Amino acid sequence: MKDICIIGAGVTGLSMLLLLQESGIDMSNVCIIDPYFDGGDLARKWTAVQSNTPWSKTIQALKKACPSLKIDSQIELENTTPLVEIAHLLRNLSKSLHVKRIQGIATHADYNTTTQTWTVLTKISDTEEKIICKKLVLAPGSEPNYMDISIPSIPLEIAIDISRLSAFVKKGQKALVFGTMHSGTLVIRNLVQAGVDVTAYYNSVEPFYWDRDGVYDGIKREAADIADDIVAGKIPVELVPVHDTSKVIRTSHSADWVIYAMGFRPRSTIQLSVDTVHKSPHLYNGVNGKLNEVPAAWGFGIAYPNLAPDGVHWDVSVAAFLEHIQLQISDLLSS
Ligand SMILES: Cc1cc2nc3c(=O)[nH]c(=O)nc-3n(C[C@H](O)[C@H](O)[C@H](O)COP(=O)(O)OP(=O)(O)OC[C@H]3O[C@@H](n4cnc5c(N)ncnc54)[C@H](O)[C@@H]3O)c2cc1C
Repeated sequence: MKDICIIGAGVTGLSMLLLLQESGIDMSNVCIIDPYFDGGDLARKWTAVQSNTPWSKTIQALKKACPSLKIDSQIELENTTPLVEIAHLLRNLSKSLHVKRIQGIATHADYNTTTQTWTVLTKISDTEEKIICKKLVLAPGSEPNYMDISIPSIPLEIAIDISRLSAFVKKGQKALVFGTMHSGTLVIRNLVQAGVDVTAYYNSVEPFYWDRDGVYDGIKREAADIADDIVAGKIPVELVPVHDTSKVIRTSHSADWVIYAMGFRPRSTIQLSVDTVHKSPHLYNGVNGKLNEVPAAWGFGIAYPNLAPDGVHWDVSVAAFLEHIQLQISDLLSS
């Protein structure tokens, strides 16, 4: 039997391991499950995307959360890095921890109210492994939102990477981009560079909001510069408010591609139940990460972001995940 079982070894699951090590618990009582152990989406999907936070922010957050960590990094603190660097850092820092690693997909977890334990089933190729644990931590990540509008779509992780996008599109084709926040802006720039005719739809009053104007999750760095160029007419794109239905229908006519850059939804890779009665893995408390419908379970990371101090926005950076998990860890260990 394990004390804690973590589902997902992205930056959140790996941060959780580091924080548990820092708390001094016996790490042989911890189990972590992931099909890849590559560091999650920052390593797998958003590899080449430039971080919108400087390296110092990630390092400072790690040092604050885990003071005993020896962080040996050659990267200049003021620089931003491709996102894969953050995943590499956390993977390297956590690789020597003596936890049980199971390489597979956790498909189902059932809580038994009599024994007060979770039984977690993991599919590994054609076999299944069963783990019994007292507490469950979900960190399965998220997938981009999408719609069903019968136009071929380019996955966001491809559209955001110009070298991969160029293999998909042809000069003179027409693409629709839904969303003009950070990733939508990068996608617009990539499509225009590839010679594609772009129409972008936004669902707020203005197409762009900038961090420099004090907007909580406004765009910054590279995306902010691109938005400036779009507004100045240096990057040609037709911007359409999504509530203008007739214009949406008119402009979407004969599009070759659509790209959805309109936020994320939590991955639904695991089913939860209590005494075999199905429960939602998605309902949780945004302040402490506790799942609502099941006991002894928490959710962290991009799939379970924490409420920002303003109580309106959600915090979705590695630094924010670390700070949030650190605040919950004593409750998690004592309950
Ligand atoms: C385009 C983009 C840019 C971003 N830029 C930044 C940035 O600049 N700075 C920053 O700090 N943050 C950034 N983020 C936010 C955040 O850091 C990332 O979303 C990060 O990938 C979240 O990590 P995670 O561990 O929660 O999820 P993921 O990285 O998605 O990891 C989840 C892991 O869980 C595994 N998994 C899922 N289901 C199961 C299952 N049932 N069983 C076992 N394993 C499972 C997956 O294989 C995966 O490895 C960005 C996000 C996006 C999308």
